[in-house]
Amino acid sequence: MDANSPEVVVIGGGPAGLTTAIALAGSGLETVLVAKSRAPDHRTTALLGGSVAALQTLGVWEECRQHAAPLRVIRLVDDTNRLLRAPEVRFDAGEIGLEAFGENIENRHLLTALDQHARGLASLTVIDDTAEMISIGDTAVTVRLSGGGTIAARLAIGADGRQSICRTAAGIETDARRYPQTALTFNLGHSRAHANISTEFHTDSGPFTLVPLPGRRSSLVFVADPRDAEHWSQADTPELVMELERRSHSLLGKITVESGRGKFPLAVETARAFAARRIALIGEAAHLIPPIGAQGLNLGLRDAATIAELVVEAHRAGADIGADAVLARYDSARRADITSRHTAIDMLNRSLLTDFLPVQGARALGLFMLDRIGPLRRAMMREGVMPLLAQPRLMRGEPL
Ligand SMILES: Cc1cc2nc3c(=O)[nH]c(=O)nc-3n(C[C@H](O)[C@H](O)[C@H](O)COP(=O)(O)OP(=O)(O)OC[C@H]3O[C@@H](n4cnc5c(N)ncnc54)[C@H](O)[C@@H]3O)c2cc1C
Repeated sequence: MDANSPEVVVIGGGPAGLTTAIALAGSGLETVLVAKSRAPDHRTTALLGGSVAALQTLGVWEECRQHAAPLRVIRLVDDTNRLLRAPEVRFDAGEIGLEAFGENIENRHLLTALDQHARGLASLTVIDDTAEMISIGDTAVTVRLSGGGTIAARLAIGADGRQSICRTAAGIETDARRYPQTALTFNLGHSRAHANISTEFHTDSGPFTLVPLPGRRSSLVFVADPRDAEHWSQADTPELVMELERRSHSLLGKITVESGRGKFPLAVETARAFAARRIALIGEAAHLIPPIGAQGLNLGLRDAATIAELVVEAHRAGADIGADAVLARYDSARRADITSRHTAIDMLNRSLLTDFLPVQGARALGLFMLDRIGPLRRAMMREGVMPLLAQPRLMRGEPL
């Protein structure tokens, strides 16, 4: 392949970009991935059913399996001091005939597996560089690299994260809102077994979520107001351990905190269009969502599976893969899924922060109904694992 003029160029080597490049190149499209390597963070990702199926179909999951822990039960516990508190809600994958809702894996293992797989594909060239400028012509999009050199392709896929230069080049604006919250991330060892149960404590400042990792380890996303977050991100380990054991009600026994603390200011941001002018946006370039309910990368992988499916289909039909018709199909295929998740997470998060009693009541009532009404709870669980609005082929376990 001529690496300067492939059919598609993918910009950004995060999990969304790597997955898209693998799906496209694995289907025979000449693809270039521009992926500047960066130090891995210590986050983990809870991948729900469809995402695991997609990685399995692409042949990547075998490398991930040993590093991942199944999520069999998800508990939501109201840990607020509110007048109207919600009952505990327990989602059990067995109730909808599944072994698990998904698998939790450290991002470093997921990225290593994706990267190794990508580098073994004949139709994929990985360039360790940064895209500096993108210009759009009638029949091609041209990417200039920081290290010199250009790549011209019919379609560019912007997987370049929240500060996407692809989004800017396409002239796509976003709607954004910041929350008065910061998410802290820690990986923990603990003396009690987690029994593959993830527990999300809903507190007045946001969720405090423990998610199983293999063995006696769990990841923690601790959402706090920015001043508290600053304190806990710097705190001495013994003080931090005491606080984490207190907040987790010693559910996991004695805790040890592993090295590597993360800090992420919370915001929601959605691109007004997911594609325009020979550029399609995926992952956080298209949508940023708070880390509540494990939605962010699951949405990003559904973007990846959808754009890959549409592009492969157009290519097989001999059509222009960067044409407006392909981009419009992608935009409309992703809109309902992304918008509905953003609305749900935004409402849930804001209902925790509000002091307005009717809103607290509505949240408590919603969770009460989920607890008591089996069919509603089961429908919600199925929707979490297999969204009705978005089931691209890879998510159904079907090759492209
Ligand atoms: C605390 C926390 C916990 C989370 N937990 C979960 C979870 O359990 N489940 C879930 O589904 N999601 C979760 N998420 C969301 C998930 O982490 C993100 O959705 C995901 O990392 C986004 O992947 P991405 O590939 O779109 O972007 P990124 O991972 O940001 O990758 C973008 C890549 O593009 C590169 N890049 C940027 N600009 C350029 C350029 N000009 N040229 C070349 N490369 C460029 C960057 O270096 C980077 O490598 C969580 C998020 C947070 C903050």
